[in-house]
Amino acid sequence: MPTCPKCHQKVSDQATACPYCRVELKAFGHPGMPLHRANKDEYLCDTCLYHADDTCNFPQRPYAIECTLYRDRTPPPEPPKQPSDWGRSLRIWCQRHQRLLTLAVLIAISIIAAIAAQK
Ligand code: SF4
Ligand SMILES: [Zn+2]
Repeated sequence: MPTCPKCHQKVSDQATACPYCRVELKAFGHPGMPLHRANKDEYLCDTCLYHADDTCNFPQRPYAIECTLYRDRTPPPEPPKQPSDWGRSLRIWCQRHQRLLTLAVLIAISIIAAIAAQK
């Protein structure tokens, strides 16, 4: 659940305005149109992808404090890599090749029995 940028209370992601401090959360009163706000003493354009690639033609650029099209240019953090799980992989391989393993065990037992019988 998102928080209000002004009073930091938790608000519904469909709320068009904060129910506590009444600050506008969505543009034009439409729940599907997020209204991005800059932090204090910053401009949104400084971190916006459209400013970085020079495709924005909004008049408030490069000093936008509120913007509906802002897109953060910093890439999202990569998900943590899973350590390889050899035990799990081996178990799955054994389940898939159960007949082959059974046959290999029977052949090994037969060879051991034949060697033991010759002594
Ligand atoms: S889309 Fe908005 S935040 Fe991004 S560069 Fe244009 S005016 Fe600035
Ligand atoms: Zn609020």
